Amino acid sequence: MTFVTRFAPSPTGRLHLGHAYSALLAHDMSRREGGLLLLRMEDIDATRCRPEYEAAILEDLAWLGLTWPTPVRRQSEHFTDYASALEKLRNIGVLYRCFLTRREIAEEAMSAPHAPGEGGDGIIYRGPSTPMSEDEQEFRMARGDAFAWRLSMSYSQDLLGEVFARLEFRERDEATKAERSIAARPEIHGDIVLARKDTPASYHLCVVHDDALQGVTHVIRGEDLRDATHVHVLLQRLLGLPQPIYTHHHLLTDETGRRFAKRDRSLTLAALRDAGLAAVDIRARIGLPA
Ligand code: GLU
Repeated sequence: MTFVTRFAPSPTGRLHLGHAYSALLAHDMSRREGGLLLLRMEDIDATRCRPEYEAAILEDLAWLGLTWPTPVRRQSEHFTDYASALEKLRNIGVLYRCFLTRREIAEEAMSAPHAPGEGGDGIIYRGPSTPMSEDEQEFRMARGDAFAWRLSMSYSQDLLGEVFARLEFRERDEATKAERSIAARPEIHGDIVLARKDTPASYHLCVVHDDALQGVTHVIRGEDLRDATHVHVLLQRLLGLPQPIYTHHHLLTDETGRRFAKRDRSLTLAALRDAGLAAVDIRARIGLPA
């Protein structure tokens, strides 16, 4: 199959018009290309994901006219896969244990100088000035201190050398289909967390792992995730995984210019369906052909 894409919602709430756009765009593109659309449940966050949201998502997507192969991959059932990927990264020496609390990280990030234009609103941790000794790590673990596995940008840079500086990804425009290469700058994220005690695998790790495992050739998702792609490209390189082509589509906004979000109850697909709208009306509303 030369065109495999996916819609990968997190079952943390009801789907709204923004999700419908993403899912239908992926559906339409895969149809046009004679390809395949997969559905994947990104439900690793046990505190926020709920089975009833998953059931509602399936219902909403079917109502929109989507079909997908079953069984649907549910990330929460594959933690051993993500642990193996983590192990691989540990073995090539790009991870380290970080014992700092979230608060300590926030304090450190506030005091560190930032390069202009760097990062989003999230907290960026650039890593320790000197690595913690093995003895100290053993001591902290024996004491029961929690730690996170972080991906070191500087270790990755050392390992990959010139390749790090030349990382890039292909981006395909949602309307014109024109492709261009974008230089990847994973370092804008600092040393991201790939696993911690309460969540043994992060979004970044799972998504990169699963896209490769499921043979995804084209990732179609909102432009709010373009920054994440920069780090996904690095993970793909470190794990020796193929790189899909990315489409980062525009985000829909309401009449006040605000992005649709899970808080907008009135614009969930369920509410619109209850109000008598049909899938074709949803398409018209979000600017997709019937
Ligand atoms: N699970 C993510 C979300 O709900 C989407 C991940 C992706 O498409 O890469 O926003």
